Amino acid sequence: MNFLEERIVKDGALKEGNILKVNGFLNHLIDVDITRHMALEFQNRYRGEYITKVLTIEASGIALACMTATQLNVPMLFAKKSASLNVDGDIYSAKCYSFTHQKDNHIFVSKRYLEPGDKVLIIDDFLANGQALLALTDIVRQAGAEVVGCGIAIEKGYQGGGDLVREKGYRVESIAIIDEMDADRHIIRFKGDDNIYTINNI
Ligand code: 5GP
Repeated sequence: MNFLEERIVKDGALKEGNILKVNGFLNHLIDVDITRHMALEFQNRYRGEYITKVLTIEASGIALACMTATQLNVPMLFAKKSASLNVDGDIYSAKCYSFTHQKDNHIFVSKRYLEPGDKVLIIDDFLANGQALLALTDIVRQAGAEVVGCGIAIEKGYQGGGDLVREKGYRVESIAIIDEMDADRHIIRFKGDDNIYTINNI
């Protein structure tokens, strides 16, 4: 198990409806040490790549994206989920089905902050069905910028989003890939590890 997988088993919890809660270190209380550790991991995996901007979606991707941008010494831009932008009219937008809220969202980025010529590393906390990542890649495309790759903390590999995004030609680097999890049996299994680990339920 790597450092993130260990932390998921220790402090994560499974919730009915195929949700892994990681509020104790990633989604509510932010553990800055493990966030920095993940940021360093992305920096290592994308070493040698030219990156000018880190992009994520509000809200839960922001801390990880910000720490990654700090490591890379580039700005961090987050797509907003509300059209009531405090910015002037010129925006890129993309539709994005929310897995956690089970509804269509639109996400928005001001044209002012994403330019042709930007080399973008997309960061997010979770990758499930891939809708959030695909919406972000669409926004980068609209801007005439380039996606260098994606960095994900936790990929739920069995939901297929990672495969979908990789099949479209994007590089996706995930620190923990879950191959199986089951709230009824309180278990979780990670890619590349045959062991099944017991995990708490909510
Ligand atoms: P996707 O668009 O890939 O289906 O879902 C990605 C988004 O859904 C992530 O940004 C994350 O906020 C949320 N998400 C998906 N699955 C989970 C989960 O099991 N636990 C948590 N906490 N968030 C999830």
